[in-house]
Amino acid sequence: MKPEPIPLSALQHWAYCPRQYALIHLEQVFEENLYTLRGQALHKRVDDPGFEVRSGLRTERALPLFCDRMGLVGKADIVEFLLDGTPYPVEYKHGSRHKRADIASCDDVQLAAQALCLEEMFARPVPEGALYYASSKRRRTVIVDAALRQQVVDISTQIRIAQAQPCLPPPQTDESRCHGCSLLELCQPKTVRLKAEYRAYIAHLFTTAD
Ligand code: SF4
Repeated sequence: MKPEPIPLSALQHWAYCPRQYALIHLEQVFEENLYTLRGQALHKRVDDPGFEVRSGLRTERALPLFCDRMGLVGKADIVEFLLDGTPYPVEYKHGSRHKRADIASCDDVQLAAQALCLEEMFARPVPEGALYYASSKRRRTVIVDAALRQQVVDISTQIRIAQAQPCLPPPQTDESRCHGCSLLELCQPKTVRLKAEYRAYIAHLFTTAD
């Protein structure tokens, strides 16, 4: 049986935190916070499928994407088609480039996955794309190089493994990302960490001679 396709957004969630991915995509839980609401408001602008042509440049909005080779599905906010026909994905993000610096690598993975889909769909190389930051109204070019492509492959593999596991991945060891996470209350990372430490302590008590 063909495995369920992986949504492109899942790759970004996994890159941010594997536990966040599992809560959203396996446990189907989701909570809004300021960041997710801002993201939704922004995406309303590009969620309406359609296209326009300006100066010979065709731009598609909300273009459905797939990559059968890797089992990926999703949607691109914007795909520009350069004059030679090369697709150029542009992913919209709320905030500024500066404010999203710590999660830039997660956004890059999502964009690279879009590029891989476009390569399969249009049978031509997609060497780069861009992230558009709504607050600063600036773009950042993302080169879809070999390392980034490999990251997409690795994360997809890790997601497939996680899908077959009975337990959620543990919370992040680095708590800094938890502060901006909308799932903080549901995830309870501190409690889960304490429980794990407590269990390890109890196990230690019963396995040492003294
Ligand atoms: S609260 Fe922290 S550990 Fe939990 S899902 Fe969010 S980022 Fe991951």
